[in-house]
Amino acid sequence: MREAERIRKLPPYLFARIEKKIAEAKEKGVDIISLGIGDPDRPTPDHIIAKLVEEAHNPANHQYPSSVGLLEYRKAVAAWYKRRFGVELDPKTEVVTLIGSKEGIAHINFCYVDPGDINLVPDPGYPVYGIGTLLAGGEPYLMPLKAENGFLPDLEAIPSEVAKKAKLMFINYPNNPTGALATLDFYRDVVAFAKEYDVIVCHDAAYSEITFEGYKAPSFLQAPGAKEVGIEFNSLSKPYNMTGWRIGWAAGRADVIEALGRLKSNLDSGAFQAVQYAGIAGLLGDQECVQRMCEVYRERRDVVVDGLNAMGWSLEKPKATFYIWAPVPKGYTSAGFAEVVLEKAGVIVTPGNGYGEYGEGYFRISLCIEKERIIEALRRMQEAIGKVEF
Ligand SMILES: *Cc1c(COP(=O)(O)O)cnc(C)c1O
Repeated sequence: MREAERIRKLPPYLFARIEKKIAEAKEKGVDIISLGIGDPDRPTPDHIIAKLVEEAHNPANHQYPSSVGLLEYRKAVAAWYKRRFGVELDPKTEVVTLIGSKEGIAHINFCYVDPGDINLVPDPGYPVYGIGTLLAGGEPYLMPLKAENGFLPDLEAIPSEVAKKAKLMFINYPNNPTGALATLDFYRDVVAFAKEYDVIVCHDAAYSEITFEGYKAPSFLQAPGAKEVGIEFNSLSKPYNMTGWRIGWAAGRADVIEALGRLKSNLDSGAFQAVQYAGIAGLLGDQECVQRMCEVYRERRDVVVDGLNAMGWSLEKPKATFYIWAPVPKGYTSAGFAEVVLEKAGVIVTPGNGYGEYGEGYFRISLCIEKERIIEALRRMQEAIGKVEF
């Protein structure tokens, strides 16, 4: 059977070749250290698990949840925004529960994108922005994130014919994969752009809480007028080590939240209520657990950046996310470098072109593995490739 056009159009899985190599190396008994996957390695904090267990025993939670989420959970999200950013949200109309933010990032496209429509998509970027666009029949217009612009999109470089046709603009700060930050001023510019061209902004704030050395990431919704032009996605996945639980939210512009909720009510039946109650425990509970995790990532970050710099890189230490985005040395492509590091050092790094064409020339290291293993990975890389040049 011929697959549907929307599936056929999906780009091939870019990590397939690396996965094959990993399988081969493992078969040979090679000890592989993966610095590839952006998935927290530590457990979910106990108080959140305890709440899940308690709520899982309540039969009221065994039935279909509301597809837009428990009002209590949406109130907790609103309270979190108020406390964290000073942003007021109406939990009834401006917040929707998501089964992980990836779900909403993909589904928002089905609310606004007709075949042939354009979305503004950052490159390099989280693959779901472009894939969600394609699945809805839209065309991603790539906004290159370049080092010389601090990995922020150059809004003025977007041709006005494109901007006029665009439906959604995806942005993501603190950024995966580059670790870049955005200021409130940048968000003000985005609001002005969105108003001028009637574009809906979808800000992905998945790493807003994974920050170091006193840096606090702003919310897009703090920018004046942001709630008139867009929404913000966030999730409990990264701050509370809950990637497997599938719980997040979208918040902001009411008609967009309503449309997403309407779509969801026709597609899925919402997040398990016990998980939403556990999420409330996370959002409203002691945030000390988040600080502790950030300290763990900061230590790992320092090991990676200091280690690479000793080999010839000149990287700055990112103030947020658990990623290090680094250029490949002279003479390598992204894929070629990842392959050499895997073959000679048994270490997996992610080639930058996996995040889009403008990621070529870079690789990403994820900090979701214990420090001792990171130290070992760097020792092996040093031994395998020695000093590098750019
Ligand atoms: C991890 C991640 C997400 C979301 O994850 P969920 O588990 O689906 O909430 C969203 N955006 C980016 C950029 C991420 O790295």
